[in-house]
Amino acid sequence: DGAITPAIFRAMMHRAGDDIIAERDWLSELDGVIGDGDHGVTMEIGWKAVQGALSNAPDNETIEGNCKRMAKAFLDAVGASSGPLYATAFLRAGAAVSDRLNLDPPALAAWLAAALQGVRDRGRAEPGDKTMIDAWAPAVDRAQQAALSGSERDVIMAARDGAEQGMKATAELESRRGRSAKLGARSIGHIDPGAASTWVILRAMAAALEE
Ligand code: ADP
Ligand code: MG
Ligand code: MG
Repeated sequence: DGAITPAIFRAMMHRAGDDIIAERDWLSELDGVIGDGDHGVTMEIGWKAVQGALSNAPDNETIEGNCKRMAKAFLDAVGASSGPLYATAFLRAGAAVSDRLNLDPPALAAWLAAALQGVRDRGRAEPGDKTMIDAWAPAVDRAQQAALSGSERDVIMAARDGAEQGMKATAELESRRGRSAKLGARSIGHIDPGAASTWVILRAMAAALEE
């Protein structure tokens, strides 16, 4: 195991885009049940823009620089409510590691924690409101635990597993934010699409590090 360099970081983000595109139909199906059915398409558009923006990044660009580039590309490409949420997550995550060239386990956990805080600040949802926060929050909790003694790989795998558990648990929640809040109790029984896309992203980041 070694620290996450900017080149490895870019490979992780490239994989996140590939996996989001592969899961597009599933994400839109989830959104079709409790939202307007566009989350997969929205995320595909955003992540294609991210991949394009990163491919234009100079090789020596820092992780913070990469994250700024991702945030701008995502925000410009995506009109849906997830656009500013993920864009703010990338921007704040990058800023949290602005003093780093490479990410060690605590810096990776800090990157994840700042992404969560960005979504919280931007969307003003609380844990339990049935949003992507309910995947990010357990991901960050587990990542911070893993960072105390684990490797970069342990941290991102812990985040992935926390996000999966959190995503699945959104099925039991009643929506209080976003489009699905209109459904009230009828939103119960269904996974939140944004929590699902968060899991796909973290799963892809872990997969990229495992290779
Ligand atoms: P839209 O609802 O505008 O069509 P998307 O379908 O792309 O946008 O994204 C919907 C997802 O955005 C939801 O499943 C939820 O996870 C997330 N979301 C919506 N509002 C908020 C919020 N205020 N805070 C956090 N996440 C939110
Ligand atoms: Mg939608
Ligand atoms: Mg929409």
